[in-house]
Amino acid sequence: MSDYDVVIIGSGLGGLECAYILSKEGYKVLVLEKNRQLGGSLQTFVREKAIFDTGIHYIGGLDEGQNLYKCFKYFNIYDKLKLIKMDEDGFDRISFGDNGREYKHAQGYDNFVEQLSQEFPHQRQALKNYIEHIQEVCNYFPLYQLKEDNNPVFVTKYLDINARDFIASMVSDPRLQSVLAGSNPIYAGEGDKTPIYVHAHVANTYIESAYKCIDGGGQIERYLSKNIRANGGEIRNYAEVSKIVETEGLVTHVQLNTGEIIHGKNFISNIHPALTMEKLESTKIKNAFRHRMAGLENSSSAFIIDIVLKPDTFKYINYNIYHYNQNDVWTGVNNTPEMGPAGFALFVPKSSFGGEYARSMTLLIYMKFDEVKKWADTYATMPHHDHSRGPEYEEFKIRKAEQVIDMACAKIPNLRNCIQSYTTSSPLSYRDYIGTKDGGLYGISKDYRDPVRTFIAPVTKIPNLYFTGQNLSMHGVLGVTVGAVRTCGLFLGQNYLIRKINDF
Ligand SMILES: Cc1cc2nc3c(=O)[nH]c(=O)nc-3n(C[C@H](O)[C@H](O)[C@H](O)COP(=O)(O)OP(=O)(O)OC[C@H]3O[C@@H](n4cnc5c(N)ncnc54)[C@H](O)[C@@H]3O)c2cc1C
Repeated sequence: MSDYDVVIIGSGLGGLECAYILSKEGYKVLVLEKNRQLGGSLQTFVREKAIFDTGIHYIGGLDEGQNLYKCFKYFNIYDKLKLIKMDEDGFDRISFGDNGREYKHAQGYDNFVEQLSQEFPHQRQALKNYIEHIQEVCNYFPLYQLKEDNNPVFVTKYLDINARDFIASMVSDPRLQSVLAGSNPIYAGEGDKTPIYVHAHVANTYIESAYKCIDGGGQIERYLSKNIRANGGEIRNYAEVSKIVETEGLVTHVQLNTGEIIHGKNFISNIHPALTMEKLESTKIKNAFRHRMAGLENSSSAFIIDIVLKPDTFKYINYNIYHYNQNDVWTGVNNTPEMGPAGFALFVPKSSFGGEYARSMTLLIYMKFDEVKKWADTYATMPHHDHSRGPEYEEFKIRKAEQVIDMACAKIPNLRNCIQSYTTSSPLSYRDYIGTKDGGLYGISKDYRDPVRTFIAPVTKIPNLYFTGQNLSMHGVLGVTVGAVRTCGLFLGQNYLIRKINDF
């Protein structure tokens, strides 16, 4: 009756990693993906021969011996990936409209302190304290260091400390505070909300080492999928789960939107917990839990402009830029359309064909779902197949894109002359492609004021239904990978799995 040991709903990074780990350990796994393309935010797309990432611009922790290096080795993908190490003296550069300086986040703890001390010599000791504390915060989460945890008590230290206040307690210079938090669009940082552990893990992983995938992060999906199949696992696209059905205390099967029923012994949901609850037909889950999941706020969404560059016009830069029109880097996420964006993030993909010039670039600003709400009934993916959301939406996107490009020209004056064409995505695109209701980029946003509520466990009240993915521990390649280890640890034993990864 149960055809599969584990049925995984969603082929995002977390779903694929769970499928790899469990199939390698002998479980018969099936991954079900609603879209044609696998990978969720790992997906890439091509315009005029230029490759764009939808959700992986850079990855940390990939130097030999570091946490993601070990995981990617264990997944048997590390040696296949085409990677480029980013600028060691400044992989992220933070700039402000009021001066022409670029403040550099460097790789390596000492180098990080050194580069910023050149701009803030009076804060050298403060920077050393900051960097020590960042490491200390990360050390409180052994799983992130792939360390066995023999005393897995729920750690509350650092869950309930605000990132903005923490940074301000370390360094006194307000500009340096903004510089340290300047890359916060990569975790949708909010001044009144974001806990220090989110800032610390993201900052730390890139300070350890920062890489881009040459020709896009889609290769991570491709190699993981290949390895899952080589382990005997199955992956199906165009397989949207519409119901998860529980009988006598256990989930027995899922139903696809085609009506097809798939039985399994265990089920892992790689989709948002609120959506999982909507699809779950069960009396075992209390309404209070369903309401809690439904009520959790997601991180902000974004408006993204993917630009094809004219050949030989824009020199490739091996770093990202986070540019601000204001000194406060923590409030931009809540800027209204009338206020305009507080700044933008700029990512330049590395192409194997571009030589010294870039083929493309991506500009990202925050955008709330409310701004596109009036087109919420249009869909761009299966099963709806709307080809266009209508001329008004297209006009809205062009107007917005031109506004952002104008803003970017203040930082890169020659930018307009380099643009061959561009395409845009909005919160609606992310809603349709990833399946979150409001297109939130990074899933459930963590809140230091209520840490336990926003910290999702991989287990549910139904013993054979589990969660994985960015809503669990944290978002990002590192956060999702740690989440997959947590989820699969429930099947295999966490310490056993950690030993396997470390010894690989
Ligand atoms: C714009 C952007 C930039 C980012 N940049 C970076 C970066 O530079 N570095 C970094 O480390 N991280 C980055 N991230 C974060 C990172 O990409 C994500 O945290 C991670 O990929 C999420 O993985 P996931 O396992 O949660 O799955 P998701 O990517 O959320 O995928 C879930 C999958 O489930 C599928 N699905 C949904 N509903 C159903 C259903 N009913 N039935 C079947 N399938 C379903 C979806 O189609 C999707 O494929 C970025 C994210 C975004 C959006």
